[in-house]
Amino acid sequence: MRRIRSKDTAPEIIVRRLVFAMGFRYRLHQRDLPGRPDIVLARHRKIVLVHGCFWHQHARKACPIARAPKSNQGYWRAKLAGNVARDESNARLLRAAGWKVLTVWECETRSPARLFARLTRFLGRHN
Ligand SMILES: [Zn+2]
Repeated sequence: MRRIRSKDTAPEIIVRRLVFAMGFRYRLHQRDLPGRPDIVLARHRKIVLVHGCFWHQHARKACPIARAPKSNQGYWRAKLAGNVARDESNARLLRAAGWKVLTVWECETRSPARLFARLTRFLGRHN
């Protein structure tokens, strides 16, 4: 299955740099895991997914940047609903395999302090 979004998007790089600065090491886009998750901390059995708010349909109530497509709405609705279903199924498979999964949304990467707090809560302190 092809992914639509490109690798190495700006929000993903922001999260990667922060996780790295916190002292954690990880693998990227590990092929043998469902959905080729963005950031894999194998030793901690944790995964951080960085989701674009449009492509992965962040709940509009919670999100300052998610928007509805203006044209071709039928096409987009189906496409985006497919992304969301695939995200849910991948996360379920990962959790069933014993991984802890954190989803970070694009809009959250715009607030470094909050992002850091979320990552710290999920990953704990590295020592
Ligand atoms: Zn968002």
